[in-house]
Parts: sequence; C-alpha cells; structure tokens
Amino acid sequence: MSNAAQRLDALLKPDLEALKARSLFRLRQLVDGPQGAEIQFDGRRCLNFSSNDYLGLAGHPALRAAVRQALDMYGTGSGASHLITGHTRAHAEFEAELAEFVQRPRALLFSTGYMANLGVAGALLGRGDRMLADRLCHASLLDACRYSGARFSRYPHAQADAPQWRRIQSGANTLVVTDGVFSMDGDMAPLPALARACETAGAFLMVDDAHGFGVLGAHGRGSLEHFGLDMRQVPILMATLGKALGGFGAFVAGSEALVETLIQRARTYIYTTATPACVAEAGRAALRLVQAEDWRRTHLKQLIQRFRLGAAQLKLPVLESSTAIQPLLLGDAERALSVSESLRERGLLALAIRPPTVPAGSARLRITLTAAHSGQHVDRLLEALTEVMSNAN
Ligand SMILES: *Cc1c(COP(=O)(O)O)cnc(C)c1O
Repeated sequence: MSNAAQRLDALLKPDLEALKARSLFRLRQLVDGPQGAEIQFDGRRCLNFSSNDYLGLAGHPALRAAVRQALDMYGTGSGASHLITGHTRAHAEFEAELAEFVQRPRALLFSTGYMANLGVAGALLGRGDRMLADRLCHASLLDACRYSGARFSRYPHAQADAPQWRRIQSGANTLVVTDGVFSMDGDMAPLPALARACETAGAFLMVDDAHGFGVLGAHGRGSLEHFGLDMRQVPILMATLGKALGGFGAFVAGSEALVETLIQRARTYIYTTATPACVAEAGRAALRLVQAEDWRRTHLKQLIQRFRLGAAQLKLPVLESSTAIQPLLLGDAERALSVSESLRERGLLALAIRPPTVPAGSARLRITLTAAHSGQHVDRLLEALTEVMSNAN
C-alpha cells in the first residue's frame, strides 16, 4: 500500500519528466549579493542582461538607506491587511506621491502586480461583462480575465481593428487590457489606436505599464506619457514597483471612484497582509530618483541605440523594439538554451525564455539593458553574441 505522499508523487512525476524531455524544465539558480550590471549568479560573476532593473535602482544606496530608516521606525511586519491595522503613514504618503506623479486623483498600492491585475478585474467585472486582451499580454492579465468570470476573448497582437473589437456590445461592461510595453517582446502597444477603439466601442481601457513606468516618457511617467494620453482615454493605469523602481509592489491609479471601488471590492487588496512599510519607503526613495535623475533614462536610451545599431550590423535576429527589452529570437527551446549557455561560459547572463511564457517555436533570449550598464558592457555583449551565434548556426 502506498501512502498519500507517494500517490501524489506518482501523479506529479510524469509531467516533470515530460518537461525535462522537452527542454522546458526550469531551474532556479542562486544569486548572492545585490542586483547590478554584474551579479553573482550560480557562484559566478556575470554581466547581467536578464533583469528588469531598468534604471539600476535595485541596489541603490538611497533605497537601502530608506529601508533601514523605515525598519527602525516601523519594524518588519505590517501585522495586518490595509483595512485593519496594516496601512501605515508610509503607504499613504507613497500613494499620494504616486498619484501626483502619474497625474491622477488617486493611487492604490497592491502587494504585487499580479494581485493588482486580478484585483481590478475581479472588482470591476462579473458574469455578463466582457474582457478583451491582447494575445501577447502578460500571464497575470490573462489570469485576471479568467478570475473575473467575465466572458473573455483575445485579439491579435497590437491590432486595434481586429474582428474581436466589433463584437463588443454596448450594455455589457467591457474592459480592454494590454501591456504598455510587452514583457517578452519589448514592443509598445499602439495605445492611441486602442484608446480610440475603446472610445468607439464604449469600452474601458486598462494599461499594465510594468515595463514602461519609470522608463518611458520625458519624466518617466511611462507609456501614457510617451503617447500623450491621460485618464480620459485610459481610465485605469497599473504599474509595478519591482522593475524600473527597483523595489517591490504595484499600484493602480485612476479616479476617486475607481480607487474607492478597489478598496471596497478588490479581494486581492482586502484579504492579504499589507506589504511592510519599509517596502513602501523603498518605493518612495526610488520615485524621488526617477524624478531627480533624468540621466538614467537618457543613458539607457543611448545603450539601446548602441545595441540595436550593433545588432543590425551583425544581422542578429533581434525583434523590433525600441525599449530596454531586446529579445533575440532563436526559435526552439533547445537552441535558446544552448546559446544562453554559451554566453554563460563567457561570463554573460542572458537567460532563455521558453514556452509557455512565449508561444511555441519562439523561444528567445530576453536581453535587457539597464542604466547600470556601460557602453563597454553592451559592446562585450555584441562581441560574445557574434561568436556564439556563428558557432550555433
Ligand atoms: C512583472 C509583471 C507583472 C507582475 O508584477 P509583479 O509585481 O511582479 O507581480 C504584471 N504585468 C506585467 C506586464 C509584468 O511584466
């Protein structure tokens, strides 16, 4: 007779074996020390082209100092959810600063972007409503669609005139969701066209700006600033704090009524412990740097140009992207793994992204540049890619 643990394992193991056989098994490697242009990864010093720390803030002394100070003031745990005793002055002040920065009446902190997306969809929609999502949008938005109970369809990537749009009926609420910058492709959503299509259809547009916030637009306000859009066209803005802001968490910004509705109805806001105050203070310190240090965005832009110019000369299969995300399309998962491995041997980290994170047959190296890199770092990457790709062909 086998016991319950053995029966469970017998159920699980075939799937794990199948993943390994298809080069889709994922391993976690240990990182020692802070994020930066170089990291200690799997016991080895590597030039890091695989983080979302676009502005180079995740290891910044100002953020560390803010956390230390907040630890002395607030301790570690927040003790309870926001609606009980977990909502500190640090959270409230950060929300006010975020709202002012993105030029909206209110902002609401969530523990993670994943939870923010689920929370919004769950609070605003139910059965009888509809959601429409870009086919390549982030997994958390797709999960939000499912979680909401709304009828949901996907439109072809970046197409604001796809047939799916004509099926939007007035009467039912329709929420259209898109990434501002697509996380695995690096391209920007055609937000002006999407906003117009939503206007015509009477739908509401929500932008998940995880990869635009802090980076895009003259002031770093993100994809909406880049396109000159505001709350009138995009009533719901979500952005995360774990990427360009170098911290952890997320927020949703919009009208008074939107934020109050989320506080009253979003289950991923209500039924979870508030993030520690020191995490909010790290976010506040990062937001001050986003506003004070334009050079980070300027420098990053120059690195992107340098990489793209080099990649074009070398005829590398990079996707069309003007953002910090510069994917190198390799096709099958095995090839992506082997190119990534060869880079690792040369001390460069550019991890392979495989299905189901990206569509089958489109495995890639998701190369990301950050303000912590130098021009020489980019040149080293290009040199290594030249060698590795000519060997791999
Ligand atoms: C990272 C990411 C999220 C999730 O944010 P977390 O705070 O990491 O949970 C949501 N949407 C997009 C587009 C992302 O890239």
